[in-house]
Amino acid sequence: MKQKLSSISVKSFILVFLVACSFNAFPVSDDIQLGKQVQQEIQNDPKQYPILNNAAARSYLQNMINQIIMSPKIKYRKEFAYKVEIIKDDNTVNAFCTPGGYIYVYTGLLKKLDNEAALAGVLGHEIAHAENRHSTQRMTKAYGASVLTNIVLGNEAGQLEQLGANLLTGLALLKNSRSDELESDEDSFHYLESTKWYPGGIKFFFEKVMTNKSSSIFEELLSTHPMPQDRLDQINKLIKESNTTGATKGDNLFKARYQEFLKSL
Ligand SMILES: [Zn+2]
Repeated sequence: MKQKLSSISVKSFILVFLVACSFNAFPVSDDIQLGKQVQQEIQNDPKQYPILNNAAARSYLQNMINQIIMSPKIKYRKEFAYKVEIIKDDNTVNAFCTPGGYIYVYTGLLKKLDNEAALAGVLGHEIAHAENRHSTQRMTKAYGASVLTNIVLGNEAGQLEQLGANLLTGLALLKNSRSDELESDEDSFHYLESTKWYPGGIKFFFEKVMTNKSSSIFEELLSTHPMPQDRLDQINKLIKESNTTGATKGDNLFKARYQEFLKSL
């Protein structure tokens, strides 16, 4: 009995330790499964998520993603889907990524960007949410006690099923925490360092949001993405620290090509 008690307290200690370390109780296979599930739900709900029927526009974004995930910093290139769809909704300035790498970008966001480097920054940011497995990490925090107890006690089998499908979808798309956002911005910057795009491009978008903060068009974005002065500060710091070539030259922003793309939407 005594032995059992002390082993439980060691386990509780491990539990507290794991929660404090942003431990992820879910295996990578759950991210993949969860992503497929959410992607299916989105596909089955065209009212809420009207997918843009424009193969050329979709492949323009997909090609960019294919280049970004060639960064040596990407871990789940083979495991995750890294597929993109454009949602036809000019009034929503947002993008999101499911666990396992299904990326969705609203036309409202695309139209607020000025160049390809800014879009590359957004896509890299969404990829980073998947790479860092932020959704299942957040789910671990939300369900911490029950999920982790099961793991410590060795009953981890079937935990995803136990939690229930709708709840999962809801949780998977929950508000991103400030630290998740900053981490994704930073990772995106580093992914882009090995591409042809200026890695600090997302800052042009942040500057635009900052100068139009009261505009209702940014309301949803600001409610789901902690924004953006600290994110802008961080990007400026990263630009300063790295020996990134200046954005002003324009040859790594691909502005003209992006403007052509926008006309095709
Ligand atoms: Zn984000």
